[in-house]
Amino acid sequence: MPCAHVTMAKDPPATTPDGCEECLASGDRWVHLRLCRTCGHVGCCDSSKNKHATKHFHATKHPVMRSHQPGESWSWCYLDERMV
Ligand SMILES: [Zn+2]
Ligand SMILES: [Zn+2]
Ligand SMILES: [Zn+2]
Repeated sequence: MPCAHVTMAKDPPATTPDGCEECLASGDRWVHLRLCRTCGHVGCCDSSKNKHATKHFHATKHPVMRSHQPGESWSWCYLDERMV
């Protein structure tokens, strides 16, 4: 079931298609990528040591991130804490 946040979410183009914005800037590595469906920010997942997608949510309150892995189309809502 989609939640209210994902209903309002869009699919903006990635601002940094090559990887996590902050990790690219600092030369760090990531495990998987998440794309913010409010602004197109690309951040790394919670399996990555820097967890920039979660940090992006806390900094911006943008609620819905989509998997940015090839072949994956699920989204995660941070406010509802579930896949949507
Ligand atoms: Zn939600
Ligand atoms: Zn990162
Ligand atoms: Zn965002």
